[in-house]
Amino acid sequence: MRLSGPEALSIASKLFTEKLADHRVVHGHIIDPNTKEIVDEVLTCYMAAPHTYTAEDVVEINCHGGPIPLQAILELLLKHGARLANPGEFTLRAFLNGRIDLAQAESVLDIIRAKTAASLRVAMQGLKGNLSSSIKSIRTDLMNALAYLTARIDFPEDEIDEQNIIPILKEAHDKLQKIADSADQGIIYRQGIKTAIVGRRNVGKSSLLNRLLKQNRAIVSPVPGTTRDTLEEIVNIQGVPFVLVDTAGLAAHHGLVESLGAERSREAIIKADFVLLVIDSSVPLRSTDKDIINMLSEKSVLVAANKSDLKRKAKLNDIPFEIVYVSALTGEGIDQLENRMATSVLGGKVLSSDLLLVSNPRHKACLEQAIKHLDQALASIDSQIPDDFVTIDLTSALNALGEITGETVNDELLEIIFSNFCIGK
Ligand code: GDP
Repeated sequence: MRLSGPEALSIASKLFTEKLADHRVVHGHIIDPNTKEIVDEVLTCYMAAPHTYTAEDVVEINCHGGPIPLQAILELLLKHGARLANPGEFTLRAFLNGRIDLAQAESVLDIIRAKTAASLRVAMQGLKGNLSSSIKSIRTDLMNALAYLTARIDFPEDEIDEQNIIPILKEAHDKLQKIADSADQGIIYRQGIKTAIVGRRNVGKSSLLNRLLKQNRAIVSPVPGTTRDTLEEIVNIQGVPFVLVDTAGLAAHHGLVESLGAERSREAIIKADFVLLVIDSSVPLRSTDKDIINMLSEKSVLVAANKSDLKRKAKLNDIPFEIVYVSALTGEGIDQLENRMATSVLGGKVLSSDLLLVSNPRHKACLEQAIKHLDQALASIDSQIPDDFVTIDLTSALNALGEITGETVNDELLEIIFSNFCIGK
Protein backbone atom coordinates (compact mmCIF):
# COMPACT_ATOMS: atom_id res chain seq x y z
CA MET A 1 0.00 0.00 0.00
CA ARG A 2 1.27 3.43 -0.83
CA LEU A 3 0.68 6.66 1.09
CA SER A 4 1.76 9.98 -0.36
CA GLY A 5 1.65 13.54 0.96
CA PRO A 6 2.91 15.67 3.84
CA GLU A 7 1.11 13.57 6.44
CA ALA A 8 2.21 10.20 5.13
CA LEU A 9 4.84 9.69 7.83
CA SER A 10 2.68 10.80 10.76
CA ILE A 11 -0.28 8.65 9.69
CA ALA A 12 1.85 5.56 9.11
CA SER A 13 3.66 6.07 12.41
CA LYS A 14 0.38 5.86 14.30
CA LEU A 15 -0.13 2.30 13.03
CA PHE A 16 3.38 0.93 12.70
CA THR A 17 5.18 -0.48 15.73
CA GLU A 18 8.75 0.52 14.79
CA LYS A 19 10.47 3.82 14.11
CA LEU A 20 10.72 4.67 10.41
CA ALA A 21 13.93 6.02 8.85
CA ASP A 22 14.31 7.74 5.49
CA HIS A 23 14.71 5.32 2.58
CA ARG A 24 15.01 2.26 4.81
CA VAL A 25 12.89 -0.86 4.86
CA VAL A 26 11.80 -1.64 8.41
CA HIS A 27 10.26 -4.87 9.66
CA GLY A 28 7.46 -4.59 12.20
CA HIS A 29 3.73 -4.87 12.80
CA ILE A 30 0.64 -2.88 11.97
CA ILE A 31 -1.50 -2.45 15.05
CA ASP A 32 -4.88 -0.91 15.66
CA PRO A 33 -3.93 2.04 17.90
CA ASN A 34 -7.24 1.87 19.75
CA THR A 35 -7.26 -1.83 20.64
CA LYS A 36 -3.47 -2.44 20.33
CA GLU A 37 -4.40 -5.55 18.39
CA ILE A 38 -1.81 -6.74 15.83
CA VAL A 39 -3.34 -6.67 12.36
CA ASP A 40 -0.43 -7.93 10.23
CA GLU A 41 3.31 -8.37 10.07
CA VAL A 42 4.75 -6.03 7.44
CA LEU A 43 7.77 -4.39 5.86
CA THR A 44 7.43 -0.63 5.74
CA CYS A 45 9.50 1.85 3.79
CA TYR A 46 9.42 5.58 4.41
CA MET A 47 10.86 7.79 1.65
CA ALA A 48 11.24 11.48 2.35
CA ALA A 49 10.45 14.07 -0.31
CA PRO A 50 11.62 14.86 -2.91
CA HIS A 51 13.33 11.63 -3.96
CA THR A 52 10.13 9.62 -4.34
CA TYR A 53 7.66 8.64 -7.04
CA THR A 54 5.38 11.59 -6.34
CA ALA A 55 8.17 13.93 -5.10
CA GLU A 56 6.18 14.04 -1.83
CA ASP A 57 6.77 12.09 1.40
CA VAL A 58 5.84 8.49 0.66
CA VAL A 59 5.32 5.47 2.89
CA GLU A 60 4.92 2.01 1.37
CA ILE A 61 3.61 -0.86 3.42
CA ASN A 62 4.19 -4.43 2.24
CA CYS A 63 1.70 -6.62 4.00
CA HIS A 64 0.56 -10.17 3.36
CA GLY A 65 -1.15 -10.16 0.03
CA GLY A 66 -4.65 -11.39 0.80
CA PRO A 67 -7.69 -9.16 0.55
CA ILE A 68 -8.46 -9.26 4.31
CA PRO A 69 -5.16 -7.86 5.66
CA LEU A 70 -5.19 -5.32 2.83
CA GLN A 71 -8.70 -4.24 3.67
CA ALA A 72 -7.98 -4.07 7.42
CA ILE A 73 -4.88 -1.91 6.97
CA LEU A 74 -6.61 0.28 4.42
CA GLU A 75 -9.47 0.93 6.84
CA LEU A 76 -7.05 1.85 9.62
CA LEU A 77 -5.20 4.25 7.32
CA LEU A 78 -8.46 5.90 6.27
CA LYS A 79 -9.59 6.16 9.89
CA HIS A 80 -6.37 7.90 10.86
CA GLY A 81 -6.31 10.63 8.27
CA ALA A 82 -5.59 9.19 4.82
CA ARG A 83 -8.00 9.19 1.91
CA LEU A 84 -8.29 6.92 -1.11
CA ALA A 85 -6.28 7.94 -4.16
CA ASN A 86 -8.05 8.72 -7.39
CA PRO A 87 -7.13 6.72 -10.51
CA GLY A 88 -3.61 7.67 -11.53
CA GLU A 89 -3.32 10.21 -8.72
CA PHE A 90 0.21 9.19 -7.72
CA THR A 91 1.40 9.75 -11.27
CA LEU A 92 -0.65 12.95 -11.51
CA ARG A 93 1.11 14.25 -8.40
CA ALA A 94 4.48 13.31 -9.84
CA PHE A 95 3.52 15.47 -12.83
CA LEU A 96 2.06 18.36 -10.81
CA ASN A 97 5.14 18.37 -8.58
CA GLY A 98 7.36 18.64 -11.63
CA ARG A 99 9.17 15.34 -11.30
CA ILE A 100 8.00 14.15 -14.72
CA ASP A 101 6.20 15.93 -17.51
CA LEU A 102 2.85 14.99 -18.98
CA ALA A 103 4.22 12.89 -21.84
CA GLN A 104 6.28 10.90 -19.36
CA ALA A 105 3.28 10.44 -17.08
CA GLU A 106 1.29 9.06 -20.00
CA SER A 107 4.13 6.64 -20.72
CA VAL A 108 3.61 5.07 -17.30
CA LEU A 109 0.21 3.90 -18.48
CA ASP A 110 1.70 2.67 -21.76
CA ILE A 111 4.28 0.64 -19.84
CA ILE A 112 1.60 -1.00 -17.76
CA ARG A 113 -0.41 -1.82 -20.85
CA ALA A 114 2.44 -2.71 -23.22
CA LYS A 115 1.37 -5.53 -25.49
CA THR A 116 4.76 -6.76 -26.68
CA ALA A 117 8.39 -6.26 -25.70
CA ALA A 118 8.72 -3.80 -28.58
CA SER A 119 5.71 -1.82 -27.30
CA LEU A 120 7.41 -1.71 -23.92
CA ARG A 121 10.60 -0.33 -25.46
CA VAL A 122 8.64 2.44 -27.14
CA ALA A 123 6.89 3.27 -23.86
CA MET A 124 10.15 3.21 -21.89
CA GLN A 125 11.61 5.78 -24.25
CA GLY A 126 8.63 7.97 -23.47
CA LEU A 127 9.21 7.60 -19.74
CA LYS A 128 12.90 8.38 -20.15
CA GLY A 129 11.76 11.64 -21.70
CA ASN A 130 13.16 11.28 -25.22
CA LEU A 131 10.12 12.88 -26.82
CA SER A 132 9.89 15.51 -24.10
CA SER A 133 13.47 16.67 -24.52
CA SER A 134 13.14 16.92 -28.32
CA ILE A 135 9.95 18.96 -27.94
CA LYS A 136 11.48 21.17 -25.28
CA SER A 137 14.48 22.09 -27.37
CA ILE A 138 12.25 22.94 -30.36
CA ARG A 139 10.04 25.02 -28.06
CA THR A 140 13.04 26.97 -26.81
CA ASP A 141 14.06 27.88 -30.37
CA LEU A 142 10.52 29.00 -31.19
CA MET A 143 10.29 30.92 -27.96
CA ASN A 144 13.42 32.89 -28.87
CA ALA A 145 11.95 33.69 -32.27
CA LEU A 146 8.73 34.85 -30.61
CA ALA A 147 10.65 36.99 -28.11
CA TYR A 148 12.45 38.70 -30.97
CA LEU A 149 9.22 39.41 -32.87
CA THR A 150 7.49 40.68 -29.74
CA ALA A 151 10.38 43.01 -28.94
CA ARG A 152 10.21 44.41 -32.46
CA ILE A 153 6.49 45.06 -32.10
CA ASP A 154 6.70 46.50 -28.58
CA PHE A 155 9.75 48.70 -29.12
CA PRO A 156 9.61 49.82 -32.75
CA GLU A 157 11.75 52.87 -31.95
CA ASP A 158 14.60 50.93 -30.42
CA GLU A 159 17.49 49.50 -32.29
CA ILE A 160 16.90 45.77 -32.26
CA ASP A 161 19.40 43.79 -34.28
CA GLU A 162 17.76 42.51 -37.43
CA GLN A 163 17.31 38.77 -37.20
CA ASN A 164 16.06 36.32 -39.80
CA ILE A 165 13.65 33.96 -38.05
CA ILE A 166 12.64 32.07 -41.20
CA PRO A 167 15.41 29.44 -40.91
CA ILE A 168 14.56 28.92 -37.24
CA LEU A 169 10.90 28.28 -38.03
CA LYS A 170 11.76 26.06 -40.97
CA GLU A 171 14.14 23.97 -38.93
CA ALA A 172 11.57 23.56 -36.14
CA HIS A 173 8.97 22.64 -38.73
CA ASP A 174 11.18 19.96 -40.29
CA LYS A 175 12.11 18.46 -36.95
CA LEU A 176 8.46 18.29 -35.88
CA GLN A 177 7.47 16.76 -39.19
CA LYS A 178 10.08 14.06 -38.76
CA ILE A 179 8.83 13.24 -35.28
CA ALA A 180 5.21 13.24 -36.47
CA ASP A 181 6.09 10.92 -39.36
CA SER A 182 7.09 8.20 -36.93
CA ALA A 183 3.80 8.46 -35.05
CA ASP A 184 1.76 6.05 -37.13
CA GLN A 185 4.21 3.27 -36.46
CA GLY A 186 4.56 4.22 -32.81
CA ILE A 187 0.80 4.10 -32.40
CA ILE A 188 0.73 0.60 -33.87
CA TYR A 189 3.29 -0.58 -31.31
CA ARG A 190 1.31 1.05 -28.52
CA GLN A 191 -2.22 0.06 -29.46
CA GLY A 192 -1.72 -2.89 -31.74
CA ILE A 193 -3.22 -3.23 -35.17
CA LYS A 194 -6.78 -4.47 -35.35
CA THR A 195 -6.65 -7.54 -37.50
CA ALA A 196 -9.29 -9.75 -39.05
CA ILE A 197 -8.49 -13.21 -40.38
CA VAL A 198 -11.15 -13.87 -42.98
CA GLY A 199 -11.97 -16.34 -45.68
CA ARG A 200 -14.60 -18.87 -46.52
CA ARG A 201 -15.06 -22.16 -44.72
CA ASN A 202 -12.32 -24.82 -44.81
CA VAL A 203 -9.63 -22.68 -46.39
CA GLY A 204 -7.54 -23.19 -43.24
CA LYS A 205 -8.14 -20.08 -41.11
CA SER A 206 -8.12 -21.95 -37.79
CA SER A 207 -5.08 -23.94 -38.80
CA LEU A 208 -3.24 -20.80 -39.83
CA LEU A 209 -4.27 -18.94 -36.71
CA ASN A 210 -3.06 -21.81 -34.53
CA ARG A 211 0.21 -21.81 -36.40
CA LEU A 212 0.66 -18.06 -35.83
CA LEU A 213 -0.36 -18.35 -32.19
CA LYS A 214 1.93 -21.26 -31.49
CA GLN A 215 4.95 -19.57 -32.93
CA ASN A 216 4.29 -16.22 -31.37
CA ARG A 217 3.15 -16.81 -27.83
CA ALA A 218 -0.32 -15.37 -27.94
CA ILE A 219 -1.44 -13.42 -24.96
CA VAL A 220 -5.05 -13.83 -23.99
CA SER A 221 -5.55 -10.89 -21.76
CA PRO A 222 -8.69 -9.95 -19.97
CA VAL A 223 -7.72 -6.43 -18.93
CA PRO A 224 -9.04 -5.87 -15.43
CA GLY A 225 -9.74 -2.43 -14.06
CA THR A 226 -9.62 -0.72 -17.41
CA THR A 227 -12.23 0.57 -19.75
CA ARG A 228 -11.81 -2.35 -22.13
CA ASP A 229 -13.41 -5.40 -20.65
CA THR A 230 -13.42 -7.54 -23.76
CA LEU A 231 -10.99 -10.36 -24.25
CA GLU A 232 -8.13 -9.46 -26.50
CA GLU A 233 -6.19 -12.06 -28.34
CA ILE A 234 -2.88 -10.74 -29.50
CA VAL A 235 -0.43 -12.28 -31.91
CA ASN A 236 3.03 -10.84 -31.49
CA ILE A 237 4.65 -10.76 -34.92
CA GLN A 238 8.13 -9.33 -34.97
CA GLY A 239 7.21 -7.15 -32.01
CA VAL A 240 4.09 -5.78 -33.68
CA PRO A 241 0.94 -6.57 -31.71
CA PHE A 242 -1.76 -7.88 -34.05
CA VAL A 243 -4.97 -7.62 -32.06
CA LEU A 244 -7.50 -10.05 -33.46
CA VAL A 245 -10.92 -8.54 -33.92
CA ASP A 246 -14.00 -10.64 -33.87
CA THR A 247 -15.27 -10.45 -30.35
CA ALA A 248 -18.05 -12.96 -30.85
CA GLY A 249 -15.58 -15.46 -32.22
CA LEU A 250 -13.11 -14.77 -29.46
CA ALA A 251 -15.71 -15.40 -26.83
CA ALA A 252 -16.37 -18.79 -28.29
CA HIS A 253 -12.64 -19.08 -28.83
CA HIS A 254 -12.76 -22.11 -31.01
CA GLY A 255 -15.60 -20.69 -32.99
CA LEU A 256 -13.33 -17.85 -34.08
CA VAL A 257 -13.08 -18.92 -37.63
CA GLU A 258 -14.99 -22.06 -38.44
CA SER A 259 -18.31 -20.31 -38.44
CA LEU A 260 -17.27 -17.20 -40.33
CA GLY A 261 -19.56 -16.89 -43.30
CA ALA A 262 -19.58 -13.89 -45.59
CA GLU A 263 -21.74 -11.91 -43.14
CA ARG A 264 -19.49 -12.51 -40.17
CA SER A 265 -16.51 -11.68 -42.35
CA ARG A 266 -18.10 -8.38 -43.26
CA GLU A 267 -18.42 -7.36 -39.62
CA ALA A 268 -14.86 -8.34 -38.81
CA ILE A 269 -13.58 -6.53 -41.91
CA ILE A 270 -15.35 -3.29 -41.00
CA LYS A 271 -13.75 -3.27 -37.56
CA ALA A 272 -10.27 -4.15 -38.78
CA ASP A 273 -7.33 -1.99 -39.80
CA PHE A 274 -5.63 -4.94 -41.38
CA VAL A 275 -7.06 -8.03 -43.03
CA LEU A 276 -5.39 -11.38 -43.50
CA LEU A 277 -7.40 -13.05 -46.25
CA VAL A 278 -7.00 -16.80 -46.36
CA ILE A 279 -7.58 -18.64 -49.62
CA ASP A 280 -7.29 -22.33 -50.41
CA SER A 281 -4.77 -22.44 -53.26
CA SER A 282 -5.43 -26.14 -53.94
CA VAL A 283 -8.89 -25.57 -55.42
CA PRO A 284 -10.25 -23.00 -57.89
CA LEU A 285 -11.62 -19.79 -56.34
CA ARG A 286 -15.28 -19.97 -55.39
CA SER A 287 -17.89 -17.27 -55.48
CA THR A 288 -17.69 -16.84 -51.67
CA ASP A 289 -13.96 -16.11 -52.00
CA LYS A 290 -14.79 -13.48 -54.60
CA ASP A 291 -17.57 -11.98 -52.46
CA ILE A 292 -15.13 -11.56 -49.62
CA ILE A 293 -12.45 -10.09 -51.90
CA ASN A 294 -14.98 -7.51 -53.08
CA MET A 295 -15.51 -6.32 -49.51
CA LEU A 296 -11.86 -5.47 -49.10
CA SER A 297 -11.29 -2.58 -51.45
CA GLU A 298 -10.71 0.05 -48.75
CA LYS A 299 -8.50 -2.09 -46.54
CA SER A 300 -4.90 -2.97 -46.05
CA VAL A 301 -4.88 -6.64 -47.06
CA LEU A 302 -2.43 -9.50 -47.27
CA VAL A 303 -3.47 -12.77 -48.86
CA ALA A 304 -2.35 -16.06 -47.37
CA ALA A 305 -2.72 -18.59 -50.17
CA ASN A 306 -2.91 -21.65 -47.98
CA LYS A 307 -2.34 -25.37 -48.59
CA SER A 308 0.77 -24.77 -50.67
CA ASP A 309 1.75 -28.37 -49.88
CA LEU A 310 -0.97 -29.46 -52.34
CA LYS A 311 -1.09 -28.96 -56.09
CA ARG A 312 -1.84 -25.35 -56.95
CA LYS A 313 -5.24 -24.98 -58.65
CA ALA A 314 -6.47 -21.50 -57.72
CA LYS A 315 -5.85 -18.73 -60.24
CA LEU A 316 -4.91 -15.72 -58.18
CA ASN A 317 -3.62 -13.37 -60.91
CA ASP A 318 -6.65 -11.09 -60.67
CA ILE A 319 -6.46 -10.58 -56.93
CA PRO A 320 -5.36 -6.98 -56.33
CA PHE A 321 -3.42 -7.73 -53.14
CA GLU A 322 -0.03 -9.05 -52.20
CA ILE A 323 -0.03 -12.85 -51.96
CA VAL A 324 2.13 -15.14 -49.87
CA TYR A 325 1.92 -18.90 -50.40
CA VAL A 326 1.85 -20.81 -47.13
CA SER A 327 1.01 -24.17 -45.68
CA ALA A 328 -0.54 -24.10 -42.26
CA LEU A 329 -0.04 -27.85 -42.24
CA THR A 330 3.72 -28.00 -42.84
CA GLY A 331 4.69 -24.48 -41.76
CA GLU A 332 6.11 -23.68 -45.17
CA GLY A 333 6.01 -19.94 -45.95
CA ILE A 334 4.90 -18.91 -42.45
CA ASP A 335 8.09 -16.95 -41.77
CA GLN A 336 7.64 -15.02 -44.97
CA LEU A 337 3.98 -14.40 -44.17
CA GLU A 338 4.93 -12.94 -40.80
CA ASN A 339 7.59 -10.83 -42.40
CA ARG A 340 5.12 -9.42 -44.88
CA MET A 341 2.47 -8.85 -42.19
CA ALA A 342 4.87 -6.80 -40.07
CA THR A 343 6.32 -4.75 -42.92
CA SER A 344 2.97 -4.19 -44.54
CA VAL A 345 1.38 -2.67 -41.42
CA LEU A 346 4.49 -0.61 -40.74
CA GLY A 347 4.02 0.96 -44.18
CA GLY A 348 6.85 -0.92 -45.82
CA LYS A 349 9.38 0.88 -43.67
CA VAL A 350 11.29 -1.31 -41.31
CA LEU A 351 11.89 1.16 -38.54
CA SER A 352 13.27 -0.06 -35.29
CA SER A 353 10.93 0.41 -32.35
CA ASP A 354 13.94 2.02 -30.63
CA LEU A 355 13.72 5.01 -32.95
CA LEU A 356 10.08 5.81 -32.40
CA LEU A 357 9.36 8.88 -30.35
CA VAL A 358 5.61 9.21 -30.68
CA SER A 359 3.15 6.43 -29.92
CA ASN A 360 0.25 8.37 -28.50
CA PRO A 361 -2.47 9.73 -30.82
CA ARG A 362 -2.89 12.74 -28.53
CA HIS A 363 0.74 13.69 -29.05
CA LYS A 364 0.41 13.18 -32.78
CA ALA A 365 -2.58 15.54 -32.91
CA CYS A 366 -0.65 18.20 -30.98
CA LEU A 367 2.32 17.86 -33.33
CA GLU A 368 0.07 18.26 -36.35
CA GLN A 369 -1.46 21.38 -34.83
CA ALA A 370 1.96 22.86 -34.18
CA ILE A 371 3.09 22.09 -37.73
CA LYS A 372 -0.04 23.71 -39.14
CA HIS A 373 0.54 26.90 -37.15
CA LEU A 374 4.18 27.03 -38.22
CA ASP A 375 3.08 26.65 -41.83
CA GLN A 376 0.77 29.62 -41.33
CA ALA A 377 3.50 31.66 -39.66
CA LEU A 378 5.88 30.98 -42.53
CA ALA A 379 3.21 31.84 -45.10
CA SER A 380 2.47 35.10 -43.27
CA ILE A 381 6.13 36.10 -43.26
CA ASP A 382 6.36 35.20 -46.92
CA SER A 383 3.46 37.44 -47.87
CA GLN A 384 4.77 40.21 -45.60
CA ILE A 385 1.78 40.22 -43.31
CA PRO A 386 2.50 42.31 -40.16
CA ASP A 387 4.47 40.74 -37.32
CA ASP A 388 1.42 40.69 -35.00
CA PHE A 389 -0.15 37.95 -37.06
CA VAL A 390 3.02 35.92 -37.12
CA THR A 391 3.23 36.08 -33.34
CA ILE A 392 -0.31 34.73 -33.05
CA ASP A 393 0.60 31.69 -35.14
CA LEU A 394 3.84 31.19 -33.29
CA THR A 395 2.08 31.36 -29.93
CA SER A 396 -0.46 28.79 -31.09
CA ALA A 397 2.34 26.47 -32.23
CA LEU A 398 4.04 26.85 -28.85
CA ASN A 399 0.80 26.10 -27.03
CA ALA A 400 0.20 22.97 -29.06
CA LEU A 401 3.69 21.72 -28.21
CA GLY A 402 3.18 22.67 -24.58
CA GLU A 403 0.17 20.39 -24.47
CA ILE A 404 2.41 17.41 -25.17
CA THR A 405 4.71 18.05 -22.25
CA GLY A 406 2.01 19.61 -20.09
CA GLU A 407 3.23 23.22 -19.90
CA THR A 408 -0.01 24.48 -21.40
CA VAL A 409 -2.57 21.97 -20.33
CA ASN A 410 -5.96 22.43 -18.72
CA ASP A 411 -7.59 20.54 -15.86
CA GLU A 412 -10.18 18.96 -18.08
CA LEU A 413 -7.54 17.30 -20.24
CA LEU A 414 -5.63 16.13 -17.17
CA GLU A 415 -8.76 14.54 -15.85
CA ILE A 416 -9.36 12.70 -19.11
CA ILE A 417 -5.79 11.44 -19.26
CA PHE A 418 -5.52 10.26 -15.67
CA SER A 419 -8.97 8.71 -15.50
CA ASN A 420 -7.57 5.94 -17.72
CA PHE A 421 -5.15 4.88 -15.02
CA CYS A 422 -5.96 2.30 -12.39
CA ILE A 423 -6.14 3.29 -8.74
CA GLY A 424 -2.75 3.00 -7.10
CA LYS A 425 -0.72 4.07 -10.12
P1 GDP B 1 -11.30 -22.96 -41.60
O1 GDP B 1 -12.70 -23.48 -41.77
O2 GDP B 1 -10.99 -21.93 -42.62
O3 GDP B 1 -10.98 -22.52 -40.24
O4 GDP B 1 -10.33 -24.17 -41.97
P2 GDP B 1 -9.59 -25.20 -41.02
O5 GDP B 1 -8.39 -24.59 -40.41
O6 GDP B 1 -10.56 -25.83 -40.11
O7 GDP B 1 -9.06 -26.25 -42.08
C1 GDP B 1 -9.95 -26.93 -42.95
C2 GDP B 1 -9.27 -28.21 -43.39
O8 GDP B 1 -8.12 -27.94 -44.18
C3 GDP B 1 -8.80 -29.08 -42.24
O9 GDP B 1 -9.05 -30.40 -42.55
C4 GDP B 1 -7.32 -28.79 -42.18
O10 GDP B 1 -6.59 -29.88 -41.66
C5 GDP B 1 -6.98 -28.57 -43.63
N1 GDP B 1 -5.82 -27.69 -43.82
C6 GDP B 1 -5.62 -26.50 -43.25
N2 GDP B 1 -4.45 -25.97 -43.68
C7 GDP B 1 -3.92 -26.86 -44.53
C8 GDP B 1 -2.71 -26.89 -45.33
O11 GDP B 1 -1.88 -25.97 -45.32
N3 GDP B 1 -2.52 -27.98 -46.11
C9 GDP B 1 -3.39 -29.00 -46.16
N4 GDP B 1 -3.10 -30.02 -46.96
N5 GDP B 1 -4.52 -29.01 -45.43
C10 GDP B 1 -4.79 -27.96 -44.63
